[in-house]
Amino acid sequence: MNIVLMGLPGAGKGTQAEKIVEEFKIPHISTGDMFRSAIKEGTEMGLQAKSYMDQGLLVPDEVVIGIVRERLGKDDCKDGFLLDGFPRTVAQAEALDELLEQMSKKIDHVINIAVDKESLLERLTGRRICSNCGATYHLIYNPPKVDGICDKCGGELYQRDDDKEETVATRLEVNIKQTEPLLKFYQEKDLLRTIDGNQKIDEVFESIAKILRGLN
Ligand SMILES: [Zn+2]
Repeated sequence: MNIVLMGLPGAGKGTQAEKIVEEFKIPHISTGDMFRSAIKEGTEMGLQAKSYMDQGLLVPDEVVIGIVRERLGKDDCKDGFLLDGFPRTVAQAEALDELLEQMSKKIDHVINIAVDKESLLERLTGRRICSNCGATYHLIYNPPKVDGICDKCGGELYQRDDDKEETVATRLEVNIKQTEPLLKFYQEKDLLRTIDGNQKIDEVFESIAKILRGLN
């Protein structure tokens, strides 16, 4: 079962990816991990990627695709894989299709975890840090007992500039714009399944699992 997992920052993609790979016994292939191990193993494509990164340059698509090819060709991918963070663009998605065709494989499901923008903002702006001891809190997931005060040392909590609503909203907008054409691409291929990511973690997973089991 070959899966592409999509979702905006804060949608809970990482959490669901962990659950999917555990339940369906397929490797989780995230872009970051794939690059790190290709570079560490010193594969041909890994070395090429490294030379671009060392110069502070963007790694070109043909190298990215090359790394994906090396990774998907490994033994652990023969019964399936979960791609996370790739493809990012329609050009990459087209290259992936071509690559999979050469390997006599195809994408079976594209799962998009959709969460409304308001909730994403709430999740992404909720982090608070203690100005005294550095302990971190989250207003939704791990709130302090007393508003604005550190449980551990009584220090004052603050919000990092990176977590402020304006910054987060801009970042989110950019992400939404980048993702739209890709969602459309997979929708036109009738592969896209959208999951309501506003549900509880286990409910989100159940919705995904039903689709992957062919029950929905
Ligand atoms: Zn503290």
